Amino acid sequence: RRIAEADSVAVIGLGRFGSSLALELMAGGTEVLGIDADEEIVQALNGELTQVVRADSTKSEVLKQLAVDEFDRVVVAIGSDITASILTCSVLLGMKIPVIWAKAVTEQHAVILEQLGVHHVIRPEAEMGRRVAHLVRGAALDYIEIEKGYAIVKTAPPARLHGVPLGQTALRKELGVTVAAFKRPGEEWRNADAETVLGPGDTVLIVGPTRKAEGFAQLR
Ligand code: ADP
Repeated sequence: RRIAEADSVAVIGLGRFGSSLALELMAGGTEVLGIDADEEIVQALNGELTQVVRADSTKSEVLKQLAVDEFDRVVVAIGSDITASILTCSVLLGMKIPVIWAKAVTEQHAVILEQLGVHHVIRPEAEMGRRVAHLVRGAALDYIEIEKGYAIVKTAPPARLHGVPLGQTALRKELGVTVAAFKRPGEEWRNADAETVLGPGDTVLIVGPTRKAEGFAQLR
């Protein structure tokens, strides 16, 4: 059965990263074609993905046979074998796949994939390491840098914000951040507005330049 429909993704390389990504796509209702050269890995994921195939992704005939060229989105999650990653990406680019995501294990690997023209190059270890650094530092409960220099931080609001409507706090002017949303204990997340009054047990989502958002999280 061919599964190259609109909401489907081909994931090449089903190691720790690729399999986790493929299973999460499946859980969200996306059809996934998984490809890996390792028979054991293919066996283990059989039945968990829409289709799992053992194949060498560096060969364009093989990818064509699997109808990978009909997919709009392909993820190359081959990491440690940099040669296989580069060759696979080159084949996919030749097939004019509209959106290719690829994982890189080193900075040089990432540079090469970008030079080839891969649309989205990700470095999971480097990115996760940076993110966890902000969590380890303490104040942030969660942290996502949207792009270099701009972040979303989940934190507790400092005492000076308690009991005052956000509109009266000059938060944006003085601290350079915006409270995007808040959550009271036991309640759902809600969008914040000028009338929102925060209290001691609340959690907030702060949006702003990374330095400022982080600075905010460190206020007590
Ligand atoms: P992780 O760190 O996420 O576990 P790895 O780089 O170790 O990632 O694993 C990548 C996967 O890609 C492995 O399961 C490996 O069998 C697969 N792989 C490597 N080369 C090829 C290839 N040429 N064709 C298909 N799959 C490949």
